[in-house]
Amino acid sequence: MTTVPQPTHATRWRCTLCGNLTRFDVTRSSKVVEYVHLDLAGESSVEEREVVSETIESVRCRWCNAVDQIELVDRPGSDS
Ligand SMILES: [Zn+2]
Repeated sequence: MTTVPQPTHATRWRCTLCGNLTRFDVTRSSKVVEYVHLDLAGESSVEEREVVSETIESVRCRWCNAVDQIELVDRPGSDS
């Protein structure tokens, strides 16, 4: 469940309480498939990572600590 609007190429987040546009803590849950490659000694490394799904659960403003008080505003120069 997400109440956070997704920014697009023409819009960005803005904190509705303090007007912050640039600093947020984003809590994100994602489902990821990893290609794990083990060498003969058993050491593993992840060679590919595919994000299957991703959900933003909450966004907290770094300035005023408001949670999910986010609106979308136009980015500068996106008045097409
Ligand atoms: Zn804020």
